[in-house]
Amino acid sequence: MSEIKARDKEFVADTYARFDVAITSGIGSELYDENDKRYIDMGSGIGVTSFGTADVEWVKAVTEQLMKVQHTSNLYYTAPCGKLAELLCEKTGMKKVFFGNSGAEANECAIKVARKYAAEKKGSEYSTIVTLENSFHGRTLTTLAATGQDHYHELYQPLTPGFVHTPANDFEKLKETVNNNKVAAILIECIQGEGGVNVMDKEFVQQTSAFAAENDILFMVDEVQTGNGRTGEMYAYMNYGVTPDVVTTAKGLGGGLPIGACLLSEKVQNVLGHGDHGSTFGGNPVACAGAVSIVERIDDALLADVKAKSEYVFGAFENAKGIEKVVGMGLMIGVKTTRPAADVVKECNEKGVLCLTAKDKVRLLPALNIPMEILKEAVEVIKEVCAKEV
Ligand SMILES: *Cc1c(COP(=O)(O)O)cnc(C)c1O
Repeated sequence: MSEIKARDKEFVADTYARFDVAITSGIGSELYDENDKRYIDMGSGIGVTSFGTADVEWVKAVTEQLMKVQHTSNLYYTAPCGKLAELLCEKTGMKKVFFGNSGAEANECAIKVARKYAAEKKGSEYSTIVTLENSFHGRTLTTLAATGQDHYHELYQPLTPGFVHTPANDFEKLKETVNNNKVAAILIECIQGEGGVNVMDKEFVQQTSAFAAENDILFMVDEVQTGNGRTGEMYAYMNYGVTPDVVTTAKGLGGGLPIGACLLSEKVQNVLGHGDHGSTFGGNPVACAGAVSIVERIDDALLADVKAKSEYVFGAFENAKGIEKVVGMGLMIGVKTTRPAADVVKECNEKGVLCLTAKDKVRLLPALNIPMEILKEAVEVIKEVCAKEV
């Protein structure tokens, strides 16, 4: 075993079943390990490196800020934080942004907003947050409670109370769940990422959004994975013709540095006041400068390109041997393979293509700007591995 791997195994908490790969460098959608073996990156660090590794513009934005001031705390104003908030509001119609450092923190903020809004309008007993079965909202004790997958809960009781789960794509059940509880908000992913790249039905999302509005319940969308151009729109909810009250995002927003954001619509823009919420690192100028360089470049041309690449991938996998189904949207793609997904991913890694899994599927989240010829090369390897008789 290499020194990098051996030291990691000895000293890093054993919470990750890492692949047998140590990445040492990369450029764009190509990564290299300690033996200079080349890999095509079809996972982008779980949808984080939106413009690939060591992207020149992103590196420039980050280093320029790094050499001015790397951190100030939120006691002072810095330019990148406000610039990023303005950009996000322009692109969504939202009115205010709270910055944290991760997806879980973005969702924590959303949950606090929902509880405070409901407490002030209806009474503090209206504290329940409805989420979907099979969802994923993070690893803190509260976002674990929001996550609708029992196997994450078992060892960590008691979790934060006030979360109920209802089946995805079943509006009647959702209505019943809301009516049986004192509900502050409904929180959904438009496409469940960790849950298996499950795309919500348009009708379900629209009915849920309308029902929430009628009952003055907040409609909150977790765009931690689906956001920032991933689905071919700036945010996945934009594919559904709905306007959420709260949008959370992280992963691809920063292009590789930790950042999370909770976007607040007009209705809830002033729910949080001084002292109601905070984060030492939140809105960090270096992370925000990087994110500005990402968000500025998610324009119509890039989004059209994401859609075109998506069509190519769906087309290439359709009716391919060993592939039963292709699901997802944009460059968030789940492939149901005949062989176990984990075996496919392991073999793809060996052949120099890094992919992810999501439940029983192979999950692909390449950089939004992955060059077409590299994407084709990866798709051919994945097809070959899927087609193999074992
Ligand atoms: C990854 C993810 C999270 C958690 O994000 P962290 O940055 O790991 O805290 C939350 N929600 C969704 C939908 C995610 O995909």
